[in-house]
Amino acid sequence: MSQPMIDPFGRTVNYLRVSVTDRCDFRCVYCMAEDMTFLPKREVLSLEELDRLCSAFIDKGVRKLRLTGGEPLVRKNIMSLIRSLSRHLDSGALEELTITTNGSQLARFADELAACGIKRINVSIDTLDPQKFKTVTRWGDLGKVMDGIRAAREAGLAIKVNMVALKGVNEHEIVPMMQWCHENGHDLTLIETMPLGEINEDRTDQYLPLDRVRAMIAENHTLEDIPYKTGGPARYVKVRETGGRVGFITPMTHNFCESCNRVRVTCTGMLYMCLGQEDNADLRAALRASESDELLYQAIDEAIGRKPEGHDFVIDRNRPQVAVSRHMSVTGG
Ligand code: SAM
Ligand code: SF4
Repeated sequence: MSQPMIDPFGRTVNYLRVSVTDRCDFRCVYCMAEDMTFLPKREVLSLEELDRLCSAFIDKGVRKLRLTGGEPLVRKNIMSLIRSLSRHLDSGALEELTITTNGSQLARFADELAACGIKRINVSIDTLDPQKFKTVTRWGDLGKVMDGIRAAREAGLAIKVNMVALKGVNEHEIVPMMQWCHENGHDLTLIETMPLGEINEDRTDQYLPLDRVRAMIAENHTLEDIPYKTGGPARYVKVRETGGRVGFITPMTHNFCESCNRVRVTCTGMLYMCLGQEDNADLRAALRASESDELLYQAIDEAIGRKPEGHDFVIDRNRPQVAVSRHMSVTGG
């Protein structure tokens, strides 16, 4: 009944990212406008529906599942979904279950996440300066995030720090952030800002190409390209002086679409075959139309058959500022 997902370009899809909520307790300047309008709750899939949806994808060959958002840990009862999905780790069907989080709720959930078989998490931190942290996240509290990181470390979770490189905001903190990460045993992944959704600011002002960042790090460090892979699009280097790893996610300067193995589902059950394209498939309709999963499998197969070759993001003052209208918090980073 279910068959593996292979797209028209021969790429096997085995990685699913699910945005479990579009809501968040932060308002990061590159991600959201301050006065965001969120989806009415009735449009959002229930936790049971999310479980069914994820399980169908696992049946169809997904080996790595990342829960994201919005902020996944602010979704009510999110731990019941994570606990339930962990059965696929126990059965061996799923290789990895993980989350991307802003860390604000980690102190509360770290032990339980580890107990559910989660081994690694991504925590997004753009600056270690409490004042600047407040400016970038608008509503965030760095102290709480640091408590969360400590709790996660003590629970035995490996932590990868995600940092969006922002021109004139945190570019001079990248090297100190790398040193802090490596001293504490964390990988650091740097991300270029992508033109997703209307925000209150000009993205051209925020955009910092990572080839410049790499050159800046290389002024005082020796960087060795390594084949390390985590299933995502980051290219990693090892920093000889610190012994740690830095990943570069460069959707703008270096397109990595040729090896794309992933698709994304929003909290309303829309399947996006590419983060940078508008085409989607309504899986909520297929889920709700019948109790059997047949329609769902059909809808997934049809959608994978339309997975595009790649995105075409451009950040340029002479072009419209937004490549796709959805915010990252809708599609899930
Ligand atoms: N709230 C969680 C968090 O911040 O980690 C999970 C969702 S967030 C949308 C996932 C990742 O996307 C974060 O690392 C965030 O920094 C990144 N992100 C958000 N908007 C982005 C944009 N326009 N360009 C590049 N990265 C973005
Ligand atoms: Fe929230 Fe994450 Fe977006 Fe920041 S990046 S506003 S924490 S969803």
